[in-house]
Amino acid sequence: MTVTTDASSPDPALSVRNLSTVYEAKAATVHAVRDVSFDLRPMERLGIVGESGSGKSALALSILGLIEPPGRVAGGEIMLGGRDIAKLSDRELGSVRGKEIALVLQDPATALDPVKTIGRQIIEAIAAHEPGLKRSAARRRAAELLGDVEISHAEQRLDEYPHQFSGGMRQRVVIAMAIALNPSVLIADEPTTALDVTTQAQVLALLDRLVDEHRTAVILITHNLGIVSEFCDSVAVMYAGRLVETSGVDHIFESPTHPYSEALLACVPNPEKLAQGPLPAIAGYPPDLSSLPSGCAFAPRCPVGRDIPQCHQEAPQPHAVSGPAGPAVVECHFAEARIREASR
Ligand code: ADP
Ligand code: MG
Repeated sequence: MTVTTDASSPDPALSVRNLSTVYEAKAATVHAVRDVSFDLRPMERLGIVGESGSGKSALALSILGLIEPPGRVAGGEIMLGGRDIAKLSDRELGSVRGKEIALVLQDPATALDPVKTIGRQIIEAIAAHEPGLKRSAARRRAAELLGDVEISHAEQRLDEYPHQFSGGMRQRVVIAMAIALNPSVLIADEPTTALDVTTQAQVLALLDRLVDEHRTAVILITHNLGIVSEFCDSVAVMYAGRLVETSGVDHIFESPTHPYSEALLACVPNPEKLAQGPLPAIAGYPPDLSSLPSGCAFAPRCPVGRDIPQCHQEAPQPHAVSGPAGPAVVECHFAEARIREASR
């Protein structure tokens, strides 16, 4: 659920409704994504944060139709460009992927073929979606794209292989391939986790340009809150397959309302002081997604609701609240009370 601050904002670039994804293992069904809904505006930079195993990658893969058995999307709508892409066949989805929505993963090596030149791979990506394009034109376009992602001597480098590129350059090539087709939405799942801080900054700057120059909306999945405060304008906190708090970045950093968001931020009181590190550890463990409690999934670890019967019995619904630093949607029985407390 996107928090819209501008009433005149255009139609969302992506609108996800009641998306659920399960992995059906032999003994149990893992509920990786549970009834998730949100909107993404054109040019929005949405950060998705949450501990490992909270369903962030499953959400990204579900949106792109890339969940593989034993997983499956169990329900929901994914509205992109005026239609529900969850209803498309694999073939139809193949032409939407890349062209309208693209995915960048943590490890650029998985997206590149080691035995093909960089140029050939970019040209193939372009050709897959523009079959009529002449080879020479595709090559020119590929060189431009490398230049766009600030790889110098682009024309020569087209003839090099992935191993001749550094990790950061490979990630920029993957992003170049993703932007080759000007998608309206790009989902980047931990795109900088494997990179050093300098290269990380280059990749983020590139994503910034993608938003500014191509009007692409970006979903950035990360466990680095420093990156969220630098790059994102909105944030969704994911816990046990649900988005438990969605808001503008100021709200999350100034007055996180969900006790889980607050716990995530507990060690990092102000965004300027955020360490370039992983999320701080929270006492206890995330729940087993194959046997979830009936109430709030965070209740057993929650400093607020641990001893409150309602929290263990009733799953909280999304509450739209208006905090001191802006609106938020929070799945906590005590959302309003906590906002009142924070405003005092
Ligand atoms: P995150 O990206 O937030 O770390 P994931 O989306 O990868 O989390 O995982 C969410 C849940 O789905 C986890 O409980 C994980 O064990 C489960 N899961 C992910 N992939 C598979 C798979 N291929 N088979 C079975 N369970 C899976
Ligand atoms: Mg992941």
